[in-house]
Amino acid sequence: MEEPSRCWVCHRSEAEISAFADVETPQEREIQQQMSQVTRFRAGFIESADVWRKGVPKELKEFDFKFVTSNADEFKSIRIANGLLGEIAAPNKLLGEIGDAKKLTVDRLESVALILRKGDGEVPGFGALSRFEKADRDLLRRMVDQFETKWRRRIGSDGSKGVDSNGYKSGFEGLKLLDGLEFMIAAGTLYYDVQAQLLDMARRKENSSKAKRGVSVLLVSGYPPVPLCSVCVDVMKELSSHMVQAAAPPIVASSAR
Ligand SMILES: [Zn+2]
Repeated sequence: MEEPSRCWVCHRSEAEISAFADVETPQEREIQQQMSQVTRFRAGFIESADVWRKGVPKELKEFDFKFVTSNADEFKSIRIANGLLGEIAAPNKLLGEIGDAKKLTVDRLESVALILRKGDGEVPGFGALSRFEKADRDLLRRMVDQFETKWRRRIGSDGSKGVDSNGYKSGFEGLKLLDGLEFMIAAGTLYYDVQAQLLDMARRKENSSKAKRGVSVLLVSGYPPVPLCSVCVDVMKELSSHMVQAAAPPIVASSAR
């Protein structure tokens, strides 16, 4: 067995390349961007939540949360008189905003709550949960469980009324405007926390499956097979439109032709 060769282009050895600083892959960069986005969206959501709490028309507090937020347009014509001076407030804008925010957070969480609880199935944007470690899937399940235990409610609604065998209600069932709003804010925040956790899992997965950095014998079009380091291969791939193409097949495959 020959000693591992040095890279044909930069003459660095396997050890030198392995010691080379870990370089972020495009996938890792993408995940990183998504993570900062989720952090920003979560902060924006919490900020809006304060505005909703203050601005939600108390005159409608006896109304059903889901009914009011999903029919915000219907409330356009209902103008509510506040106080003696008869100041008029049109609640539809705020209610519509709450309804829209719910669609983007709670409704999405509802659609995957069962999958997260089972630790099995496809989560849009992240693929099959089974590709992640059991400890990670357990953590997601606990996030959902703890939330539902605290609220004595299932996140997802199966349309049933009353309580299930565990004494849990389902979704927004029976919640009036103000309590529904609190449930919606809590579930929406959980949605972002679940997103952040899934992204962290995807980032660790990407990092661990990253190609090992080193020197291997590769086929470059127009040349006999040569030892190349992964750093030079990356550069050659980037420049491939210009002159070189680093083909991936190892020497065994290319000599068999
Ligand atoms: Zn090299």
